[in-house]
Amino acid sequence: MDLTTAVQYIKGVGPQRARLLLRLGVETVRDVLFHLPSRYEDRASISQISRLSPGNHTVMGKVMRADLVSPSPRKPRLKILEVVISDGSGFLTAKWFNQAFLRKLFTPGQELLLYGQVKPNFRGTGLEMVNPEHEVAEEGETAGATGLHTGRIVPVYRTTEGLNQRQLRGMIHSLLQSFSSIPDPLPAEILRSHNLPDLRESLVHVHFPPGGIPLDDLNRGVSRYHQRLAYNELFAMEAGLAVLRMEEQREKGISFAPDGRLTAKLVESLPFSLTGAQERVFREIIGDMKAPFPMNRLVQGDVGSGKTIVALLAMLSAVESGYQAAMMAPTEILAEQHFITIHRLVEALGLKASLITGSRKEKDAAEEADIVIGTHALIQEGRSFRNLGLVVIDEQHRFGVMQRASLRKKGMNPDTLVMTATPIPRTLALTLYGDLDYSVIDELPPRRSPIKTRLIYEANKREIYRLIREETGKGRQVYVVYPLIEESEAMNLKAAATGMEALQAMFPELRVGLLHGRMKTAEREGVMREFKDGLIHMLVSTTVIEVGVDVPNASLMVIIHAERFGLAQLHQLRGRVGRGADQSFCILLCYNAHGDAQRRLEVMVETTDGFRIAEEDLEIRGPGEFFGTRQSGLPDLKAANLVRDARLVEIARKDAFSLLEQDPGLGSHPVLRGFVEDFWGKRLELFKTA
Ligand code: ADP
Ligand code: MG
Repeated sequence: MDLTTAVQYIKGVGPQRARLLLRLGVETVRDVLFHLPSRYEDRASISQISRLSPGNHTVMGKVMRADLVSPSPRKPRLKILEVVISDGSGFLTAKWFNQAFLRKLFTPGQELLLYGQVKPNFRGTGLEMVNPEHEVAEEGETAGATGLHTGRIVPVYRTTEGLNQRQLRGMIHSLLQSFSSIPDPLPAEILRSHNLPDLRESLVHVHFPPGGIPLDDLNRGVSRYHQRLAYNELFAMEAGLAVLRMEEQREKGISFAPDGRLTAKLVESLPFSLTGAQERVFREIIGDMKAPFPMNRLVQGDVGSGKTIVALLAMLSAVESGYQAAMMAPTEILAEQHFITIHRLVEALGLKASLITGSRKEKDAAEEADIVIGTHALIQEGRSFRNLGLVVIDEQHRFGVMQRASLRKKGMNPDTLVMTATPIPRTLALTLYGDLDYSVIDELPPRRSPIKTRLIYEANKREIYRLIREETGKGRQVYVVYPLIEESEAMNLKAAATGMEALQAMFPELRVGLLHGRMKTAEREGVMREFKDGLIHMLVSTTVIEVGVDVPNASLMVIIHAERFGLAQLHQLRGRVGRGADQSFCILLCYNAHGDAQRRLEVMVETTDGFRIAEEDLEIRGPGEFFGTRQSGLPDLKAANLVRDARLVEIARKDAFSLLEQDPGLGSHPVLRGFVEDFWGKRLELFKTA
């Protein structure tokens, strides 16, 4: 048996349990060993029975009697196993409901460890434990010395129906015992230089921590042993990113030679001048485009920082060099919106822009245009471009490693620019987008007054009507957004449509428009255009307008059932207003909110700073959900946590990148190479050139 052995060959596992383990993503011996506790329970200190109080306790005592009883003649099938133990200080009854099979485990005279909740019994005459975890103490075991499930700090695992904690714990324990050592894939020099503890020892400590490590450190995953496991994982991740990156740098890309003719004209035609940050980021992009290998750059800028113009400048630079440029957006609405903005600007320069979305398939559009705008499907479908030189991916922080790899597989190797409004601390960005260069537009256009945000409860709804009247009275426009209801677009539509009718009845002097995901592209485009042109005063919509829509004259955003939205979404929605010089407002209409929802709304009222909101979001949701690593194409992390371990990420990154530089195909480190390949699994063909 080695680390790659399938679980079903582990002693005591077999095909049925193997199926359960598979549900946990556990397929091999290695997976079992690295199925780390999700938390720990302190069952180390053993309480004296005479001093018990309600709450969780571990007790140890001699079995006095163990009886199966049927408490109710009316329910003859109900069987309760009652076990009375004594530790000399007093007696405690433990009860198990409908687990008659346990009866044979207990014999009077035996020393038993129990862990569970102590509560007053039914009659109120004393205390009892119901369905406690139990363990027969080993011969000679005394309080403080340890069992596996009780009498110690006990690991608690993520599990699945049919597989309980005891079984998992027992399996992992005996598996660890059967390995006298576990080979470490990392080079010895690196292990030595960081003074990392032995791999097997670390696993033993993480699964079955000996006394002395604070429970809190264990639960947060910051014990020395846990961090060491995290390091291995991060090293594998960064090594894979290093390989990708080096491969990309070996690829031949386009050396663009823009003459600045079109971009200069565009800048001249704008009613504003570029911010310093926009100019800087554009220079960074141009630097990449001129270089002989393909650009892979991420541009991050908070909502309203003016990413579109920067993207357009990059696209015009590609056109100046004789290439086509494409811009992809995550939704049709957003693609349409970009098209409306961009085609006016570029047609004034004598260029042709086309819009291609799923519902709009003009055959030659991609062939003829200088600039093509579409949804993400645009590229995946492999449209026939004449000579595509640059792809801009808008509002998509998830367009990652994988998607680009798939583009390359199709034989396209354009420069790529990814634009995102999700602000991410730099160290995290380095990892998530570890194979990308990174620019930040860290400055908003001048003369923007911060949006005023107010939380309004349903009872004070009238406030909203007053604000609507006020803003539209000044000639400004209003968004009213309805939430997603149970993921059903039909229901969303109904809520929004009803809302629209009610608002139209209330404000007969205004033109109210409706926008939703089920409309045909042309219809939607029509509504958006009318709103942009000021013909529609109030736009009622489902969440389809979440990202990117840009109508500077809109000054009021009303979000209905704001408590149902996530922070990132709320921030994006709010970013639809405040795009002009005038004061804008965001109203969060809340029906009932508590806990996380309440906190999200408070954060929104407190700040408009995207970085702070992202940080709070990260804290409320946790990193897994925040980043959606699954969708980013990065492998799941078991021991490491990109937020908690940010510093470790940087160390692992440095180590991995410098090792890969010395040994690009890891030819002299075959074990490590296997480890990195396994870690990335089928996601990527690493090392294909080596
Ligand atoms: P986002 O970064 O959220 O995609 P947009 O590119 O949609 O932002 O720009 C937001 C608004 O700011 C647009 O109306 C755009 O025309 C305007 N804008 C962009 N750059 C500037 C600037 N330098 N000065 C003033 N307004 C600008
Ligand atoms: Mg945008």
